[in-house]
Amino acid sequence: MTPEDTEGNQSVQTDGERRSGSDRRAEQAGGRRKRGILFVMTGASGVGKDSIRRVALPQLEDVYYSVSATTRTQRPGEVDGQNYHFLTRERFEELLSADGLLEHAEYVGDMYGTPRGPVEEALSQGRDVLLELELVGARKVKSRMPEAVMVFIAPPSMSELERRLRGRGTDSEEKIQKRLARAREEIRAMREFDYVVVNDDLYSAALDFVSIIRAERARAHRITDADIERTLAG
Ligand code: 5GP
Repeated sequence: MTPEDTEGNQSVQTDGERRSGSDRRAEQAGGRRKRGILFVMTGASGVGKDSIRRVALPQLEDVYYSVSATTRTQRPGEVDGQNYHFLTRERFEELLSADGLLEHAEYVGDMYGTPRGPVEEALSQGRDVLLELELVGARKVKSRMPEAVMVFIAPPSMSELERRLRGRGTDSEEKIQKRLARAREEIRAMREFDYVVVNDDLYSAALDFVSIIRAERARAHRITDADIERTLAG
């Protein structure tokens, strides 16, 4: 993949390749631009994170969804650059050693990681960012960026999760069992998160998610002196 991959695709670039653009914009903003909020959505494979995102994001202004890099095989219907950047192990390792990933984790035999450049650029432009991560990556992000808002998506039950995973028809029995085992670990950790949304009904789960983002945007501690001055001057 090269930086020329546009046409609906976000290219994977190393930090060095990206930094110049974000630095320029920060300068233009005179360093005064409010940083965007980083949202992390975590939950078992098959719990419906993608579906919640697809319903929720059109209801929210300007959230940048970070497309992850992965070494996993592309599933039918998945589009490179939209669902994931599908990379070879070698390219993934290259990105990693060039410090091009904000976090990464191994999940059921494959590597997954968040390209650093686009996320930092969006945040410095004041755009809110959404990452979808498994638990190990979510913990890494929280320890490096403690201000991140952590949202856990829970299934109504393990049997329902298993039904959804099998219904997808994309994984071998062995992978399904491994994904279910990871799901149990993640569910045990859900109290580490700031919010928990149970995905029983997609539309009410998406509404809960939208409400969380709106409530976080409205928190008083995010108001800057400039916001107050603007209100007073108006
Ligand atoms: P799937 O193979 O089902 O698309 O994803 C497997 C798991 O990896 C899911 O829990 C998904 O949220 C997580 N995942 C996707 N992208 C990333 C990433 O960039 N980093 C980490 N740590 N996990 C990811």
